[in-house]
Amino acid sequence: MSHYAVTNPATGDIVKTYPQISDADLEKVIESAEHAYRTWSRNSSIDERAALIHKVGDLHSERRDDLAAIIVREMGKPIDQALGEVDFAADIYRYYADNAHEFLKDEPIDILSEDGTAFMRTNPLGVLIGVMPWNFPYYQVARFAGPNVVIGNTIILKHASQCPESAAAIQQIFHDAGAKEGVYTNVYASSGQVATVIADPRVQGVSLTGSEAAGSAVAEVAGRNLKKVVLELGGSDPFILLSTDDLDGAVDSAYAARMDNSGQSCNAAKRFIVIDDLYEDFRDKLTTKMLGATASDPTKDGADYGPLSSLGAAEGLDEQLKRAKAQGATVTTSGTRDGAFFPTAVITDISPDADAFHEEFFGPVASIYRVSSEDEAIQVANASPFGLGSYLFTTDKEQAMRVADKIDAGMVYINVVLADSPELPFGGVKRSGIGREMGRFGAAEFVNKKLIRVT
Ligand code: NAP
Repeated sequence: MSHYAVTNPATGDIVKTYPQISDADLEKVIESAEHAYRTWSRNSSIDERAALIHKVGDLHSERRDDLAAIIVREMGKPIDQALGEVDFAADIYRYYADNAHEFLKDEPIDILSEDGTAFMRTNPLGVLIGVMPWNFPYYQVARFAGPNVVIGNTIILKHASQCPESAAAIQQIFHDAGAKEGVYTNVYASSGQVATVIADPRVQGVSLTGSEAAGSAVAEVAGRNLKKVVLELGGSDPFILLSTDDLDGAVDSAYAARMDNSGQSCNAAKRFIVIDDLYEDFRDKLTTKMLGATASDPTKDGADYGPLSSLGAAEGLDEQLKRAKAQGATVTTSGTRDGAFFPTAVITDISPDADAFHEEFFGPVASIYRVSSEDEAIQVANASPFGLGSYLFTTDKEQAMRVADKIDAGMVYINVVLADSPELPFGGVKRSGIGREMGRFGAAEFVNKKLIRVT
């Protein structure tokens, strides 16, 4: 039985199911991806591949209303944010198209010998499989497929079982943009089938965005089969506030960084670490703002936030909050859960022994910590199994650079939030993953950096 279905998060009703791919058809997909790699990707010019990806971006823009409506249905994303996501995905495709020559140009090497020259050429690796999550269905695919098709890799894409309709819409866009068969193929595959694809000798790498459990399962198969892997996993990003001349502005930033996508972003600010003299005012203002937000119909403009992506997600978050309370934390909520509609919550007094200190809260829940020094702020920020992004608010520029240097995270945003952009690399350390997407580094993961030495 296929587990690919569109389920209304607000009601739990299954709207439409999609059949799982058969093993025989999956074999044909791998063959076709390998064939497209050998025949089209390796023989096409950079300009041809860039034109294809540019067109994919443009079709996202042309179809933005339809594409946005799909993800509102699939995972309850508020419509204005859904439109923003489609626009961002379109920009990412166009960014990789526009910079294709720059990212793929030969890099000369100063050789020690007086005889001849040497340079690094950037070649593709071949067929890749991408495994993607439901929380940003278009953006996640764009940051994997955009650079890799431009490089000359071909893509098999296994999207989250929760978003089969957006997965099909992306496949349609590649088709309509003129992609040859096998350049980009969506598959409704099981985890076992993903393992089969990774193990196949025709496949050269896997990129997964999702949970730690899925990341380690996929990396285990990749490791056994000696395949390149990129993992973009969970996060519990610190938001460190050390000084400010605009506390209300800092609170607005904190709220925005926590509540984007109804709190379901890997790089949302999740742990607010505040210096003593600002702690009480910040806590009170952020609590007022959080508890004042209301979950409402995601199809209507201007919702503070929507339902969580599924009933299961809401039940899981509920359980985490109850455990936090049972383990001694103070939990303040805006009300009670109504199905997938989750109240906002603020957690304080979290002991380092409590699960809440270490876990990711994937929803509208803010944890606040009080610290007495810059060093303690860094220590609390780094006392997490995760190391994805981080946010730092201070008026002291030297302090900003000093602290940024010491945070164990792949990204540090200083005095700014929600500033992701196609040219800015994205990724983490520790249990947040391996490798980078976006920017020039996103175009340097699945490549053969080939030495060419000439005399
Ligand atoms: P998930 O359950 O790990 O699902 C992500 C994808 O992995 C889905 O396509 C899922 O397929 C697949 N998957 C699950 N187990 C697998 C296995 N054993 N083998 C192969 N594929 C498997 O993730 P989620 O809970 O939906 O997503 C939320 C998590 O993603 C959060 O932790 C969030 O922080 C993280 N995330 C990270 C980033 C980043 O860039 N670092 C971005 C977004 C989200 P099915 O749907 O078919 O199960």
